[in-house]
Amino acid sequence: MYKGLLIVVSGASGTGKGTVCKKLLEDMPKISYSVSATTRAARPGETDGKEYYFLSRAEFEERISKNDFLEYAEVYGNYYGTPLNEIETRINSGESILLEIDTQGALKVKDRCPEGVFIFLLPPSLAELRKRIEGRGTETPEVLEKRFNAALEEISVGKKYDYVVVNDEVEKAVEKIKAVISAESCKVSRNLNEFEMIGEM
Ligand code: ADP
Ligand code: 5GP
Repeated sequence: MYKGLLIVVSGASGTGKGTVCKKLLEDMPKISYSVSATTRAARPGETDGKEYYFLSRAEFEERISKNDFLEYAEVYGNYYGTPLNEIETRINSGESILLEIDTQGALKVKDRCPEGVFIFLLPPSLAELRKRIEGRGTETPEVLEKRFNAALEEISVGKKYDYVVVNDEVEKAVEKIKAVISAESCKVSRNLNEFEMIGEM
């Protein structure tokens, strides 16, 4: 039985994680996106159950108490969490799953699932990062400042990941992530069954 990959993508807010992951999932439809839960308000165009499950703080805390999350973290004053949703069973049955989560959450997942593939997305520069957050136009000036100030801290954790990809152009970044996924799926440690099938003693 082939196990799927647990692919974790992080990066400072505004780097382009959402944009890059969306294109990656279009190109690789067999990868499932893990929809997170959050207590932040939906942005215009976001739908409950698609980008996130939008919960109240009380609902989120109830789910924490029921151990419903693989990990959760408080980011910019709101809770975000990865629903367990049988992630382990799905990976064991060969499904690859993509998590787009912050660095606190990713490090917790690394502890629990060290065989995951941890990819950190960097902006080409801090000036470009600010431009992208402002250009998205979804944040109040106060939230925008909070997110930008947290960027350097977030970026410094990137060195703990397995791979770094600079999101200069979306297409190029997606191609690099596809190459990482392809190489990871060829790792000997993930393919010992191939040796057994060929009759290696
Ligand atoms: P994140 O999910 O990391 O917060 P988004 O995917 O929402 O970031 O992207 C933030 C903004 O930057 C969006 O307006 C998006 O269109 C833009 N963007 C993303 N990637 C690129 C890129 N490679 N070049 C230019 N703009 C980009
Ligand atoms: P946004 O509000 O811009 O959608 O996301 C803010 C931050 O929360 C991003 O860094 C995003 O990766 C992170 N995030 C989204 N879902 C989760 C999750 O389930 N767990 C954790 N720890 N972070 C998440």
